[in-house]
Amino acid sequence: MRTGVALWALLAAVAAACAPAAERSEADGAATDPGAAPVAERAGSPVDGVTIEYLAHASFLVRSPEGVELLLDPYASRVWIGYAFPAGIVPDAVLITHPHYDHDAGRYRGMPLPWGSDVQVIDGPGVYELGDVRVIAVEGKHADPYGMEFGQLNTLMKVEVAGVSIVHLGDNGPLTPENAAALGRVDVLMAPADSQYHILSEDQLAEIRAALRPRLLVPMHYRIPALEPEPGSPGDLGDLGPWLEGRPRVEHVGGSTVVLGPDDLPDEETILVFEHSPRVPSPPRSSASARPPPRAVVSPP
Ligand SMILES: [Zn+2]
Repeated sequence: MRTGVALWALLAAVAAACAPAAERSEADGAATDPGAAPVAERAGSPVDGVTIEYLAHASFLVRSPEGVELLLDPYASRVWIGYAFPAGIVPDAVLITHPHYDHDAGRYRGMPLPWGSDVQVIDGPGVYELGDVRVIAVEGKHADPYGMEFGQLNTLMKVEVAGVSIVHLGDNGPLTPENAAALGRVDVLMAPADSQYHILSEDQLAEIRAALRPRLLVPMHYRIPALEPEPGSPGDLGDLGPWLEGRPRVEHVGGSTVVLGPDDLPDEETILVFEHSPRVPSPPRSSASARPPPRAVVSPP
């Protein structure tokens, strides 16, 4: 099994070989790292794992070996969070855990959507087959006290692809034993985590980790200082850095993309921290002449 920083550098570099040109500059540094020497042998070879790209907030792109691309929980541009959703992403399907603007791109509010009108949207329980990908969507419940306006619906999304099972929690609260049983084996768990414990408390997330026993825990749904033009924004959402302090087995991808196969999963649960995608446009620095347009004012989700 390949583990450690060199693994993630390798994976990021392999992904870069398959990524659009706009993304390559970020991962090029990894290709020159002495620890990533085997990359030259693997670059350009067929990708036989699942490619996971962290966009920002709770949104990821998952691409299968056959090229099926899923967009998970896209956020609405500049609603509550201060930055925009990247343009030009046209996936094969969009998975939406619940109809909050920071997870459904504002669909519930009737905002213009960033994907094509004929793209399949999966937003409720069921089993869905898309080429070499299976989606198992399980009924859950949004964390308290949010989401009362839509009955606290939250769908737990499990994606089985390339021999790896990925679960995106959305903004789910504590899991029931039935939830955990329905999800079954979990290799990669995408879970909300921030220093203000906006969605899950320390104990609640610990219980979820104990129930699902993921090999990789991927934090999401935290404040990203590099993208937020105003300090203290968005309200009630903490950074990831303080949350990570003192935790064992933390690996940094050093980029926004990895490629994973079953042999790449560590034996002991490891926290895998992504950078946000360079596709997400950086807001201009606040000044009288370059102030971003005002954001929609809403209550926190
Ligand atoms: Zn949320």
